[in-house]
Amino acid sequence: MQKESKIIKALVFHGELSVAVLDTTALVQEAIDRHKLTPVAAAALGRTMTAAAYLCSWLKEEGSSLFVTVDGDGVGGRISVSGDGALHLRGNVANPGADLPLRGDGKLDVSGFVGKHGTFTVVRDDGEGIPYVGTSELVSGEIAEDLSAYFLTSEQRPTAVALGVRVTAEGVCPGAGGVFLQPLPGASGEAVSFAEEKIPLFVNISRLIAEKGADGVMEEYFGTRGEARPVCFRCRCSRERAASAVQSLGREDAFALIEECGAINVHCHDCNTDYTFDKEEAEEIFRQRDDGLRG
Ligand SMILES: [Zn+2]
Repeated sequence: MQKESKIIKALVFHGELSVAVLDTTALVQEAIDRHKLTPVAAAALGRTMTAAAYLCSWLKEEGSSLFVTVDGDGVGGRISVSGDGALHLRGNVANPGADLPLRGDGKLDVSGFVGKHGTFTVVRDDGEGIPYVGTSELVSGEIAEDLSAYFLTSEQRPTAVALGVRVTAEGVCPGAGGVFLQPLPGASGEAVSFAEEKIPLFVNISRLIAEKGADGVMEEYFGTRGEARPVCFRCRCSRERAASAVQSLGREDAFALIEECGAINVHCHDCNTDYTFDKEEAEEIFRQRDDGLRG
């Protein structure tokens, strides 16, 4: 069985820097399996999910939610990831089957897939009124630099980011994860320099995660153990929610659709699951609603 994904956080550099190390191998593998992603699509969605997991780790309430959208001009189309304070994430990419040849250096062409022009948007909903929306221009389409630019321009928090996802041609992810270094308010210039100098050590973060795990990386590079929390792929969809979508069509339209197609199919893009309702099941949905209205 594959080990679960996790985030480990600690304070380093005299408590001036927050460091996070993420192992998202299992999370990315589940995204590959659910969406039948090509290796380059897996790298792009996997990096975005890793970034979103980090952003979610700052949410104060478990029920708070967060949405990350990377809308670039590459072949992959829009990448959408959402998660919550419990570190449950799900996501999708518009063209999961889009493929690109490897770059000259043998790496996956993530920026070709994402595109170099477009926007990186974060919507954060703490459930207390108006959600916070922050957006910035894409810098490279490699995700890590784009997230860094987002932090700087939209949240005024310079954050050093390394992200990496390894995927074999057969669709197996041996290692995925990231390292994030964020100065706390009032941090010294030395702390910021320390963060900037550390990040190049993680140019092969996916390999480091595959070899040492997040705990090993934290101990070896930051000399501390930190606090770990599990991260997992979990969708919000369910058959009950799909049934209420059928209900919201209204009886007339729902049965017209069944007449035409034989059944109603409700598709969840986030986890690539289909919920199908035949005529009898639709009857039951509307009977329950009518009973509910009478009750
Ligand atoms: Zn779903």
